[in-house]
Amino acid sequence: MHDKVNLLDFDRAGLEGFFAEIGEKPFRAIQILKWIYQFGVKDFDAMTNISKSLREQLKERAEVRLPEIVTEQHSADGTSKWLLRLDNGNSIEMVFIPEDERGTLCVSSQIGCALECSFCSTAQQGFNRNLSTGEIIGQLWVANRAMEIRPREGRKISNVVMMGMGEPLLNFENVVRAMNLMMDDNAYGLSKRRVTLSTAGVVPAIMRLKQVSDVSLAVSLHAPNDELRNELVPLNRKYPIKALLEACREYIRDESRRRITFEYVMLDGINDSPQHARQLAKLLKDIPAKMNLIPFNPFPQSQYLCSNRETIDRFRDVLMKAGIVTVTRKTRGEDIDAACGQLAGKVNDKTKRTQRKIVMLERRL
Ligand code: SAH
Repeated sequence: MHDKVNLLDFDRAGLEGFFAEIGEKPFRAIQILKWIYQFGVKDFDAMTNISKSLREQLKERAEVRLPEIVTEQHSADGTSKWLLRLDNGNSIEMVFIPEDERGTLCVSSQIGCALECSFCSTAQQGFNRNLSTGEIIGQLWVANRAMEIRPREGRKISNVVMMGMGEPLLNFENVVRAMNLMMDDNAYGLSKRRVTLSTAGVVPAIMRLKQVSDVSLAVSLHAPNDELRNELVPLNRKYPIKALLEACREYIRDESRRRITFEYVMLDGINDSPQHARQLAKLLKDIPAKMNLIPFNPFPQSQYLCSNRETIDRFRDVLMKAGIVTVTRKTRGEDIDAACGQLAGKVNDKTKRTQRKIVMLERRL
């Protein structure tokens, strides 16, 4: 194992604690954050406003340990995907999606996933472990660096979505710390509207998130009733729709103008009829919501087909007529398997007994 602490594992409060322990003032935390995240420096010798003796001490105890890029792929539409190597042969994927007015980095939170959503390729790979804070925030660092090395117009991270591999709310502490760094003015300084956590619906963790963070929340709904959602998102058997929607309402209570984004994958003949749309509209009628329809992206051995264009448009129209802002997510990076639900990486599945694993992860909440 590593004998040095990885400074990427600390958010500002954590770094202040680290410096207090070695008898240094809290402002050191801010200096270090700026070096690492704003100037992209990981070598202590280059941190010139830090005294030589402290630099020596840091070299002895600490390091800035980053995930390593294995491959980098570029899609015809400008989307980029990186495969990042972690330990024990595991690797994760991360995607950058440039748009006219923003550049979004899609970040992973776990190696694999313990939830078994029937339409997601990450699910098929099983689960290995949670990512550390450093492995999560390190994805931003590495992506920034890769884009600096090969600059192209519009390639700058303005938004982050926790929509890569894994269920972020089952890796609560590390994800919250990493998001704190995304939003810290001394690190990446993104606003809470530009950092989005997407969850399959871990209800108690949504309630807890509200107490410690105010990032934007996206919820993978995918079905308008429990019977269907139980099939598509098995976590629903534990936290059914009613409890999930209550948690959503609670998350944005007292915050006028905020909305929950609901993601809904369009599966041909499964969840895409006008009746489903009407049922959905009824369900969401008293929640400030934005609907994001995601055309299903196939992967090897997937058992579903994507709804056709007219079906998706009709579904959207029903929701819009009911007053729900609805957008169909543009599929990006398909030619390099970088679209939603296609991220795979390489996971040494340790579980096979997935349910037990979920219970274990939840116990830490
Ligand atoms: N576990 C979290 C984070 C993953 S986000 C969550 O469930 O929200 C990735 C989004 O892509 C989720 O909404 C997920 O349900 C959706 N997705 C998964 N597989 C997909 C596929 N094959 N096609 C389209 N969307 C998919």
